[in-house]
Amino acid sequence: MGNLTKERTNPAVDREPVEWPLAPTGVPDAVTVHGLTKRYRGRLAVDNLSFTVPTGSVAGLIGPNGAGKTTLMAMLLGLVRPSEGSGDVLGQPLHRPASYLGQVGASIETPAFHSAVTGVENLRALAVLGGHDEAQIPGLIDRVGLDGRGEDRYGSYSMGMKQRLAIAASLLGDPQLVILDEPTNGLDPLGMQDIRRLIGQIAAEGRTVIVSSHLLSELEHVCDWLIVIDHGDLVYLGHPDDLASAESLIVRPAAAGQLPELQAIVEPIGMISTVTDAEIVVAVGALTDPKALAGQINRQAHAAGINLVELHLERADLETRYLATLAQRSAGAVDAPTKGQPS
Ligand code: ATP
Repeated sequence: MGNLTKERTNPAVDREPVEWPLAPTGVPDAVTVHGLTKRYRGRLAVDNLSFTVPTGSVAGLIGPNGAGKTTLMAMLLGLVRPSEGSGDVLGQPLHRPASYLGQVGASIETPAFHSAVTGVENLRALAVLGGHDEAQIPGLIDRVGLDGRGEDRYGSYSMGMKQRLAIAASLLGDPQLVILDEPTNGLDPLGMQDIRRLIGQIAAEGRTVIVSSHLLSELEHVCDWLIVIDHGDLVYLGHPDDLASAESLIVRPAAAGQLPELQAIVEPIGMISTVTDAEIVVAVGALTDPKALAGQINRQAHAAGINLVELHLERADLETRYLATLAQRSAGAVDAPTKGQPS
């Protein structure tokens, strides 16, 4: 395993933003793809995606159900052949997965574990199949927090324990890149927090992690890179801070009685997240210039004879921005993805 990011000192702590540095400038990205496309019988599942995953990052692959997350991960893993496009994974060509898969661990869709045998025995079978050293299994069981339960039947495991075993399986062979498809799916908040912490620890060991979810809020505290997709398209690529850096727009008319009329003006041009008894809150998508939106609302309100006593920007939480960005796209407001840069 490469040691390019070993200087990390701050493993992810839940609710704390990640602070470890990405790999130094000049280090090749762990994943680079250009124009990646997958069509299933003419239907586009992934549409001309181009993105990078910086080495040493925890990259969140975020998008609603059916966005194409699993298909994308399956293409990176050589399980699904791209219809078009090219790329590199760990410096090797995407179209030759055998050249890099030895350095990649993954848990995608339902892992093939057997209910009737123990967690340890399941890992042993996978280690034999993958040609990995079985001696690492007790350590992996401990790492993922299954100590004391490794000798229990897989069929008796809770959802959280099954997710942990899947992560342990993805770490067999000490991979440089770990790809996890929806590892927080079906977990309660505490279980999610444990998995997030585990992901942070895996990354702090110097690995690159790509992890998917349909909910940004499940992963935002552990990710330092985001790839947001919707209907197979790239919606946002970059640092989470860049997605969260803009704000909600607060619009307050002088007379509360003018709220319905103001709402009718704002609705076609902005994504209203809340209407209180005094003001309208407009969620500003990552693809919108908030000042231009404020100016447009101000002009149209003025033209309609509505006097605004407040029109200001407030910082929105990341999930609001993500939802606003998706809503903005489905309304057909924009074509191009927003691209941020790692800080
Ligand atoms: P979810 O969060 O619901 O798992 P996803 O973002 O992982 O969704 P995919 O499973 O990649 O999305 O599916 C993307 C699109 O491709 C969907 O329209 C899906 O129906 C379609 N699709 C996926 N696999 C196949 C397949 N084997 N044959 C035909 N269509 C497929």
